[in-house]
Amino acid sequence: MTGTAETYDGAFAVRWMEAAARAVDREAGRLTELDAAIGDADHGANLRRGFAAVADTLAKEPPATPGAVLATAGRQLVSTVGGASGPLYGTLLRRAGKALGEAGEVTRAELAEALATGVVAVGRLGGAVAGDKTMLDALTPAAAALHESFAAARAAAEEGAAATVPLRARKGRASYLGERSVGHQDPGATSSALLFAALEEVAAG
Ligand code: ADP
Ligand code: MG
Repeated sequence: MTGTAETYDGAFAVRWMEAAARAVDREAGRLTELDAAIGDADHGANLRRGFAAVADTLAKEPPATPGAVLATAGRQLVSTVGGASGPLYGTLLRRAGKALGEAGEVTRAELAEALATGVVAVGRLGGAVAGDKTMLDALTPAAAALHESFAAARAAAEEGAAATVPLRARKGRASYLGERSVGHQDPGATSSALLFAALEEVAAG
C-alpha cells in the first residue's frame, strides 16, 4: 500500500489511461455481452474505440500534469464515443482534470477529491444517483474509498458493480426494460470497476 505522502505526476496519469485502454480492450467482449442483455450491445466497442483514441493522443503529445492528462482524455472520450457513456466518462475525466488544476504532482487524497468532483458532474449530466443501476453505482463508492487506498477504491468499485445485479434500472437505455433489467450487471458500472482496477495496477507499479 502506498503512503499518504506519495505523489503522482503526469506520467502516472498517462500510465493509468494506458492501463485503462488495455483493460477495456481485453474486456470489450464482456462489456458488450452485458450491454446486449440490458442495452444495445455497444458498450465494449464504444469504450474500446474511445480509450484507444485516448491512448493514441496521450502517446503523441503527453501533457505534463495529471490534470491536463485527465482533461485531454476526457475530451477524447467525448469526441470519439457516440453512446451515453462517452459524454459521461468524458465529463468524469474532464472535471476531475480541471479540479486537479495545474499541479505537477498530486496526492492520492487530491486525486480522490478531484474524482469525487467528476462523479458529481456525471450525476448532474445524466440526472442519476447511486442506486439507479448506472456507472455511478461503482464510481461513487470508489471515489470515496480512494481516500483509504487504491486497493480499497478498486474493491469498492467492484462491489458497487456487482450490487447493480438485483437493481431495476432507472436511467439510460436499460431503464426502458423496467423489471426486465433486474438480474443483470450494469455494463457502465462494470467498466468503471475496470478503470479503478487499472488505477490500482499502475499505483502498485
Ligand atoms: P448507450 O446506452 O448510449 O448505448 P453505452 O452502452 O456506451 O451507451 O453505455 C451504457 C452505460 O452508460 C450504462 O450501463 C450506464 O452505466 C451508463 N449510463 C447510461 N445512462 C446514464 C445516466 N443517465 N447516468 C449515468 N450513467 C448512465
Ligand atoms: Mg449501449
